Parts: sequence; C-alpha cells; structure tokens
Amino acid sequence: MQYGALVISLDFELWWGVRDNRTVADYGANILGVRQVVPALLDLFAERNIACTWATVGLLFFGTNAAMRAALPARKPRYTDARLCSYNYLDEVGADEERDPYYYGLSLIKRILDHPAQEIGTHTFSHFYCLEEGGDVEAFRADLEAARAAAARLGIKLASIVFPRNQVDPAHLSVCREFGLRAFRGNERVWFHRARRGSEQTLPVRASRLKSILKTPFSGRRAATSHPSAASSGWSSSSMKAKF
Ligand SMILES: [Zn+2]
Repeated sequence: MQYGALVISLDFELWWGVRDNRTVADYGANILGVRQVVPALLDLFAERNIACTWATVGLLFFGTNAAMRAALPARKPRYTDARLCSYNYLDEVGADEERDPYYYGLSLIKRILDHPAQEIGTHTFSHFYCLEEGGDVEAFRADLEAARAAAARLGIKLASIVFPRNQVDPAHLSVCREFGLRAFRGNERVWFHRARRGSEQTLPVRASRLKSILKTPFSGRRAATSHPSAASSGWSSSSMKAKF
C-alpha cells in the first residue's frame, strides 16, 4: 500500500456498555447526548465522504421490550461478577425507545443505515466479556447467533466485531469466523494495551501501570494495527476507537 489508511470504528452501546459501573446521576446525560451526536456525526461523515464502522450492541436493535425479550439467547454467560451480565438489568428496561432512550437504539441504527458508506458491525449482542470468568465460548457462540439474527432483521450481514472492553481471546475469535466476521478491532501491540479482565483494572493497578507508561521512552512504543494473536491468521483489525 502506497499510503497509510485511517479506519474509524465507533462503539455504539448506549447504557448497555456502562451499566455495571455508571449511574444515571453520574453518566446519564452522556448517554442522552449520544442521540444528538450520532445524527451530527452522520451529517459530517456524509459531507466529508467518510466511511465508518459502527460496532453496535445487539440489544439496541429493538424498538420494544417484547421484541427484545423474544430475541434473547437461551444460553447466557454466567459471570462470577453478576453485575457484568446485561440480562440482569432487563427489569429496568422501559417499554419502548420513546419512553426509554437509554436502552434502545433502533431509530439510530436505521438512521445510520440511511447514510452512505456506513457499516453496522457488532459489539456482541449483550456487551459480552470474553476474558471474564463465566464468559465461555459456548455462551459467546449463543450471543453472536443472537447478534446475527438481530442484524438480519434489518437486512444487515455482520462482517466486523469490536470486543467489549477490547477483551480479545483466540478461542472466541475462532467462533467469530463461524459467523463470517472478517475484521476485529485489536489493541496496539504494547503491554499496557493488553486485553485485561475487569479485576485487573482496579484504580491502584491502573495507577501503577500509568506510572510505568510514563517511564517508558516514546521510541520504545509501537503503533500497530493488528492484534498479536491474529497477526498471521488472516484477520484484519485496527485500533481507532471511540464510544457512544
Ligand atoms: Zn463497549
């Protein structure tokens, strides 16, 4: 390739991506803001002819509570930390998108589809955590099947995945192949971007990691575009990220 390429992928998750560690009081306004930011970004992308992949949580594909509940996988993850499981919050999901702007995204997905050069990818169906205790491969397969079916209802064939909290794992990547996913977003190939489970992300651990990062000479860092576990496996991946 003669020139470099910039790949933009955005996590589209609304409340499902942060429900375990945020409250409406401290983060609700940010989630509501997404409903203005997405249309504004789409206008900008159309004006500047910019393509983008929207890695979308499958639970956002519904307009009503009944439709959402009818599409849940039978096999669910059994995380040791129950707060991580999106299905434990179903009782607080409102009746439909109009009455609950935090948990529904169907109108925004349709809006994305109405714009040129925009790809809907998956951020898994339930914001699935591959490296957490209980996030096993069989539950992941059921999760991706639900994501595939939800996307298919809108005529979308999923081809890209962004793993929630970038918890990429080789065994789970193999399952992605079964579903025809051809690209995932990996971390840069430096130790401080290594995929970690939540228990490795406590404040003291992050503080000590930050201290070490600040001591790392800049020339020692590498900006890579593919995940080490997939370096020679034919996967394509990239590392531009943002969250919505
Ligand atoms: Zn996420």
